[in-house]
Amino acid sequence: MKLRHAALVIVDISGYTQFIRQRNLSLLHAEEIISQLLESVIDKAEYPLILNKLEGDAAFLYALWDGNHAQAAQDILQQVLAFFPAFRHKAAELSHDTSYCDCDACTHISRLKLKAFLHHGEVVLKKIRQFEELAGDNVILIHRLLKNGVEANEYLLMTESFSTLTDDIPEFKKESRAEEYDGEEPIKVDVFYPPTFVTPLEVKPSASRKVSMFGAQIQRLFTRTFGASRTDDFKHIPNEKVGFFAYFKEMMGF
Ligand SMILES: [Zn+2]
Repeated sequence: MKLRHAALVIVDISGYTQFIRQRNLSLLHAEEIISQLLESVIDKAEYPLILNKLEGDAAFLYALWDGNHAQAAQDILQQVLAFFPAFRHKAAELSHDTSYCDCDACTHISRLKLKAFLHHGEVVLKKIRQFEELAGDNVILIHRLLKNGVEANEYLLMTESFSTLTDDIPEFKKESRAEEYDGEEPIKVDVFYPPTFVTPLEVKPSASRKVSMFGAQIQRLFTRTFGASRTDDFKHIPNEKVGFFAYFKEMMGF
């Protein structure tokens, strides 16, 4: 067990919660879409930023800091800023690729938005077999910030201690605020709102594209039914089996 100084990053996808209760939401499609979007973001993360774990619709990443904190913070910020266009690009691509499906998950991709949270501080680093486990008050604090009073659904939130290490972000609107959690000292944060993005017009897939999409569906069906290993596109998302009939029914739209 070691005490280390680390930058902590959480990326969180919001937008499906309100549909979960509706019958027509395809959970399989929702899960696939969330996985691919999270993956598009995680793919942009480079050393020293490391994926620690996936937490439902969110991912927790960290970077150990030894030298100059300001320089390290600026590097992490640049990486996280690149997550936003990567996410939007993937969301637009998925909207296009799933336009053959009219389930609520596939038709509401444009409502999915990315939130990023940044903090830094001392953490306890535990190594259990090949897994690194992060613990301590700072890990609790960044997770607590996921629930906050910010009304927007797309933003980058930094604790004041992270924000003071970085420059302002051009084009992002900044708001300084304090988040209160019962009985605790308010946490000072800076929230940065990205400029509004115009979603490209959705295009209907061509006939040949529909054929290749159908092929992809069949391939996914086999992967999920027999637990075959995922292709490179999905390599770090855990594999799980889904009943053949559940998937078949869904594919056929019953
Ligand atoms: Zn769908």
